[in-house]
Amino acid sequence: MKNRGLLIIVSAPSGCGKGTILAEILKDKAYHFSVSATTRPPREGEIDGVNYHFISKAEFEDIIEKGGMLEYATYCDNYYGTPKQQVEGMLDKGKNVLLEIEVQGAMQMREICPEGVLIFINPPTISELQRRLKKRGTESDEVINARIEQARKEMKYANEYDYIIVNDRLEKAIKDFKSIIRAEELSTKKNKMKKTEAESC
Ligand code: 5GP
Repeated sequence: MKNRGLLIIVSAPSGCGKGTILAEILKDKAYHFSVSATTRPPREGEIDGVNYHFISKAEFEDIIEKGGMLEYATYCDNYYGTPKQQVEGMLDKGKNVLLEIEVQGAMQMREICPEGVLIFINPPTISELQRRLKKRGTESDEVINARIEQARKEMKYANEYDYIIVNDRLEKAIKDFKSIIRAEELSTKKNKMKKTEAESC
């Protein structure tokens, strides 16, 4: 029988470079990216069903009501959530499932799935984060300021995660990420939990 995959929950303030790190990790077919649902409009270049499932507020609330979200949160006035479908099936297939979610959702997941691996990615500094967000050029100054404020709040939760990676150098951050996952795959602690608690999510 195939080993169950790891549920990996990653949070990082937006503009932290987490997208680049995860894109590198996802080149490995052992990983499955859980596509979230959101009510925020797509950014240029984002594809429905690939980056997110872009849905209306009414549709999102309907899924919540039917118990179809593993976790969800509001972030900068929009809903974001992890549809239950797929996550369970992919874990059973032995895939490492990656959830890229913000801190409220991650704290929910810590309760629902204690065997999940929680990783927080920190920017080197807030001013570097500001510079990266401005350089991305996809948001107005007002939205950037709201996201910086949000980042400050989120970074206070970093110590609630199992691991913190500082993305000051991309190659190092990717190496750190891979090392964490390898250690978790070899961990007896997680393997024991898989047998007892894994059915919960
Ligand atoms: P963005 O709008 O920049 O794509 O995402 C904003 C925030 O929402 C990010 O911190 C991202 O990690 C988070 N997010 C994306 N999908 C989900 C989700 O399914 N659940 C939760 N709780 N947060 C999510």
